[in-house]
Amino acid sequence: MKKLVSIVAPFFNEAEGVGLYFSRLDTVVKSLIDFNFEFVCVDDGSDDATLSLLIQHAAIDSRIHVVELTRNFGKEAALTAGLDAATGDAVIPIDADLQDPPELIKQMLEAWAKGAEVVLARRVDRSSDTFLKRKSAEFFYKIHNHFSSVKIPANVGDFRLLDRTVVQALQRLPERQRFMKGLFAWVGFKTVTLDYIREARSAGNSKFSGWKLWNFALEGITSFSTSPLKIWSYLGGLGALCSLVYALFIVARTLIHGIDLPGYASLLVSVIFFGSVQLLGIGMLGEYVGRIYMESKQRPLYIVRKTYREPVQRLE
Ligand code: UDP
Ligand code: MG
Repeated sequence: MKKLVSIVAPFFNEAEGVGLYFSRLDTVVKSLIDFNFEFVCVDDGSDDATLSLLIQHAAIDSRIHVVELTRNFGKEAALTAGLDAATGDAVIPIDADLQDPPELIKQMLEAWAKGAEVVLARRVDRSSDTFLKRKSAEFFYKIHNHFSSVKIPANVGDFRLLDRTVVQALQRLPERQRFMKGLFAWVGFKTVTLDYIREARSAGNSKFSGWKLWNFALEGITSFSTSPLKIWSYLGGLGALCSLVYALFIVARTLIHGIDLPGYASLLVSVIFFGSVQLLGIGMLGEYVGRIYMESKQRPLYIVRKTYREPVQRLE
């Protein structure tokens, strides 16, 4: 019996790219005759023709399985929905815009056959991304891996192969706020890394603005590290120590030189400085408390309106 491989892609307003996605994937998959494939496509509340195009393709191709979410839940939730719907012995999440070359799937499957449980795809050349995006990504990986004990490999996206056992491990992680890259790293498993060149989008525009990316980075750091919370006790201690030294200095100076009125500038500076440090500390606390609040509601990660699929033939 051939093994079943699920290719999972989230689609959010990708109408221009749907046809291209299936034709390119089909070409790749045709040459991989030792495996059966299913294409899990999650429609993440698109408001263009994406869904109807996906359904049209699913009607003529029994490998295609469409999961329709009730609204836009965001890429991480859409990907989770896809992983939950996938039934393959291996699952490969991929971007619908073909920025991850499907041609790499062949090498992934080879590595998997040799015993790897996770096959990572690392972007060696991101020249198709803007300078700012590359630099900020680099900075993010540095900061994240410095603070967190779970290291995310730099320049590795969601494009990877996951063995069924890995998917099951992922499904045991109950958190609502899903930073997939971090969760993928957290579960561990035997990992092999392949290199590839990041391509430009096949069609349409990126759905991630600077602000969205910033929040994504915050999500990543707060999900996997509590250092930003702890740093405040040290900063506070340091501040207290400095003020103690300064107080001693003032007392000594007053005793030696007598009463001296000027000094309101230093007072004001320290009031403003410590005020803002406290606000920062409270803000940081807020980031975590907010996340605790969201987690505590125990809402489902996504809601499926409907799925479209013909039964997959596994026997062959
Ligand atoms: N995506 C999604 N929901 C969203 C935003 C994006 O499902 O709210 C999908 C999008 O359709 C694409 C993938 O996530 O398949 C990556 O998005 P994009 O290409 O915009 O991100 P970038 O490659 O610029 O990081
Ligand atoms: Mg993209």
